[in-house]
Amino acid sequence: MVVVGGGVIGLSAAWKLADRGVSVTLVDDRPGEAASWAAAGMLAPVTEVHYGEEPLLALARTSADLYPQFVDDLERASGLPAGYSRSGTLAVALDADENAVLKELHLFQLRLGLEVERMKSAACRDLEPGLSSSVRGGILVPGDHQIDNRLLLAALRAACEHGGVHFVNDRVAELNGREAVEEAVTEDGVRIRCRTVVLAAGCWSGSLKGVPEQALPPVRPVKGQILQVRPLHPVPPLEHSIRGTDAYLVPRGDGRVVVGATVEELGFDTRVTAGAVYELLRAARRMVPSVDDMELIETSCGLRPGSPDNAPMIGPSAHDGLVIATGHYRNGILLAPVTADALSAFICDGELPENVAPFTPQRFSRRPR
Ligand SMILES: Cc1cc2nc3c(=O)[nH]c(=O)nc-3n(C[C@H](O)[C@H](O)[C@H](O)COP(=O)(O)OP(=O)(O)OC[C@H]3O[C@@H](n4cnc5c(N)ncnc54)[C@H](O)[C@@H]3O)c2cc1C
Repeated sequence: MVVVGGGVIGLSAAWKLADRGVSVTLVDDRPGEAASWAAAGMLAPVTEVHYGEEPLLALARTSADLYPQFVDDLERASGLPAGYSRSGTLAVALDADENAVLKELHLFQLRLGLEVERMKSAACRDLEPGLSSSVRGGILVPGDHQIDNRLLLAALRAACEHGGVHFVNDRVAELNGREAVEEAVTEDGVRIRCRTVVLAAGCWSGSLKGVPEQALPPVRPVKGQILQVRPLHPVPPLEHSIRGTDAYLVPRGDGRVVVGATVEELGFDTRVTAGAVYELLRAARRMVPSVDDMELIETSCGLRPGSPDNAPMIGPSAHDGLVIATGHYRNGILLAPVTADALSAFICDGELPENVAPFTPQRFSRRPR
C-alpha cells in the first residue's frame, strides 16, 4: 500500500501499518518539513477545549492517553528519544476580562469532568516565578503535556526505516483506477501498483488527479507563524506550557521556548511577517517579561490542514481503496496516535474504531464543495 505524505500523520500511519506486517511505500519529497515541523507540540486537549466540540475532546483525550505507550514503543522501535515531556499547562489571564473568560472556561471544564485547578495570581507565580506580576489568575491543567515535534518526526522516520517502510523521495501526481485504486503515479513518472492509498498530504490533500471529486477531502490551509527564543542570561526556566489569550509559550528541555502562533486564513502563503513576529513577542513578553532579553533564534510558518468543522477526517472515502487521514487542523501532533491506530485497525482488520466513527470524511459527502 502507499501512504501519500510524510508529516506526523503519514509517518505514524506508515510505522503502525508496517508493524502489523503491511508492505508500505511512503511517498513525499520533503517528509517531516511541513506543518508537523512548524508545530509547537502541545498535547493539550483540556486547555484547547471549545464549546460544542465535545466529540473532538473525547478523541483528543483518547489520543493523549495513548501517548505514553506510543512514545515507549516508538523509542524502542527507533532507538531515538521522542521528546515527550509531562510538563502540564498553565492558562493565564492578564486582565479582568481575560480572567472572566477563564472563569467560564473553568466551569465548562468542570462540567465535563476534566482535571483542572483554578489558580489565584500569587499561586500562578509560585508555580512559575517567571510570570509577570500582572497575571490575574489561571487554570492549571496538570495532564496537558507536550512533545518536541521535531524529535518525534526523527524518531518516526527511523522507526519506519527499521520497520521496512520504503521511502520514495517524490510527490504523488495522480492515482489510476476507474472503479478502485490500482496505481499511484509520481511526478517523476514512477508507477507504484497498490490497492490501498492513505491520503495524508496535510493541507494539500484536497487535490489529487485521478480521484473523483466527491472522494477528495475538503481541506484548506490555515497559516500559522511561530517563533523560538532562547535566554541569553540565566532566568528561571518555565516548567509548564503557558497559554494566554494571544500567544502561548512552550518550554523545551534545552532552554529554548516556542512562542506561537498566528491563525490566518491566507491560502498557501508561508511568508513570515514583521507584524506577526511583533504581535507574538508582544503577547509573550506580557506574560513572561524575561522574553525581552531572549535571543530570537527562529521564525517559521506552517499550514494547518483545516476541514469545514475543524475536526479531522479519518477513514474510507467514496473511492474504493482510498483512505483519508487529514484535516487535523490545530491538533495533528496530539491526534497522531489515535489516527494511526484507527488506520491500522481499518486497513488490517476492516473495522474503524467507534471513537473515530464521527470523524469519517463521509460526513461532508453531501455538502456542496
Ligand atoms: C504554527 C503551528 C503550530 C501548531 N501547534 C500544534 C500543537 O501544539 N499541537 C498539535 O497537536 N498540533 C499543532 N499544530 C497542527 C499540526 O502541526 C498539524 O495538524 C499536523 O502537523 C498535520 O500533520 P500532517 O501530517 O497531516 O500534515 P503536514 O505535516 O503538513 O504533512 C503533509 C505532508 O504531505 C506532503 N505532500 C503534500 N502533497 C503531496 C503529494 N502530492 N505527494 C506526496 N507528498 C505530499 C508534504 O510534503 C508534507 O510533508 C500546529 C500547526 C502549526 C502550523
